[in-house]
Amino acid sequence: MWIDGKSVPARSGKTFLRESPGHGITVGEYPLADRHDVDSAVAAARRAFDTGPWPLLSGADRSKVLWQTAEIIRARKEDLALTETLESGKPIKQARDEMEWSAALWDYAGALCRHLHGDSYNSLGSQVLALTVREPIGVVAMITPWNFPLLIISQKLPFALAAGCSAVIKPSELTPGTTLKLGEILAEAGLPDGVVNIVSGYGDPSGIALSEHPEIDMISFTGSTEVGKAVVGASQRNLKKVELELGGKNPHLVFADADLEAALDAVVFGVYFNMGECCNSGSRLLVQNDIADEFVSRVIETAKRIPVGDPLDERTKIGAIIDENQFNKILGYIESGNRAGARLRVGGGQLPQVTGRFIEPTVFDAVQPEMAIAREEIFGPVLSILTFDTKEEAIRIANSTIYGLSAGVWTRDIDTAFAVSRGIRAGTIWINTFMDGYPELCFGGFKQSGLGRELGRFSIEEFTELKSIQVHLGPRTNLWAR
Ligand code: NAD
Repeated sequence: MWIDGKSVPARSGKTFLRESPGHGITVGEYPLADRHDVDSAVAAARRAFDTGPWPLLSGADRSKVLWQTAEIIRARKEDLALTETLESGKPIKQARDEMEWSAALWDYAGALCRHLHGDSYNSLGSQVLALTVREPIGVVAMITPWNFPLLIISQKLPFALAAGCSAVIKPSELTPGTTLKLGEILAEAGLPDGVVNIVSGYGDPSGIALSEHPEIDMISFTGSTEVGKAVVGASQRNLKKVELELGGKNPHLVFADADLEAALDAVVFGVYFNMGECCNSGSRLLVQNDIADEFVSRVIETAKRIPVGDPLDERTKIGAIIDENQFNKILGYIESGNRAGARLRVGGGQLPQVTGRFIEPTVFDAVQPEMAIAREEIFGPVLSILTFDTKEEAIRIANSTIYGLSAGVWTRDIDTAFAVSRGIRAGTIWINTFMDGYPELCFGGFKQSGLGRELGRFSIEEFTELKSIQVHLGPRTNLWAR
């Protein structure tokens, strides 16, 4: 683990192993944190925050560390990408891209370091000048999932550091490799000891210990909606601030007037990218009835051609499924789709492979809005297709889940595009594109997809407290005691 600027074992001496989902061999052995290790990590972060120097440095000095981190991530791209591919099963080419996207987030947050500012009031009368200042919120715990390990921590950590916070991070037990390497990278970039601490281990006990911990001021969690709710419950102990990035069941709407060639590619990319193990996955296709038959046939033809297999093969687009639980969960949803009367058009099973866990790209049509495969997050390469006649109906179906993370709309009609964008309750809407992202644009969910926002210029403010400072100028007037 990484505590107070040093690589350390667990106090108990225990470790746990990680197997490659695509190869079935052990690719990592990591210290198994318990509550004592979490306490040490929190104590180091607390010291680094309470005694400085990090929170007191100028934005200019903090930005140098963040930019240097971006450079080192780029320089170590191959090594980091290989670790992610071996631990997560994602295709190696995609993993390399994710290292670049991660570095870009450190660059952007570096620029924000000098942007953080408050407000002043010179309008409260001749004897008053008042300031509203932003201060770093304190020690932030960050708990992350396995699907985009370095990318997701890079959506949080640089912004918290830019604000002047210190942190304790718990990556997923399935993919701790690159987050632990980030500890060394930050030290090399010049981050003072104790500002970032990383514990490896399971949700129970280390994630729970962080969520409950009285010395932590804020928790930034990315993961499932179910665990997000548990984190909110545990946070009550000291009323820490909670920011949540949770699940999604994102609708992808295709109208008859769209550029269907472009929409086809985006639909297939949207659902099968990262094996569908993606919070933003466009796992529900809503297609207008006039074009449904032809468009669905083309989706099926395209799905059949996508290369599935060894994540280390440069041609692979769909790699391996993260673990046995997830694998069985996906197959369970496929069975539920069949049972509910949806029509399985392609895929639906395990890919015959010597080793590793692979699921064929799967398409169901004739899906009804009330079916589980239309409402629940499957987190696998499974597309559920529904149809609609009017934009009002499309918006109603799109909104008929507990989630509100993102949505896509394909049309050449500007009125339709904006009616849908306004009508769908989700944090991100893509018009004639899907799953693009930029550090400048905020990201997060409506409804049960989350609380708060990451990225964009506001994200740094999530990691601050506001303080009002009021100054009385000149002699005291309206004396109270007289
Ligand atoms: P998960 O909720 O099972 O686990 C996430 C993290 O929480 C892991 O580090 C885990 O060890 C930890 N954890 C587990 N139980 C805990 C507890 N009781 N208290 C505190 N921490 C605990 O999620 P996952 O399976 O790793 O990831 C998949 C989920 O993440 C999906 O639902 C997906 O939609 C969501 N996700 C959301 C976003 C987003 O930005 N909205 C991004 C990626 C993934």
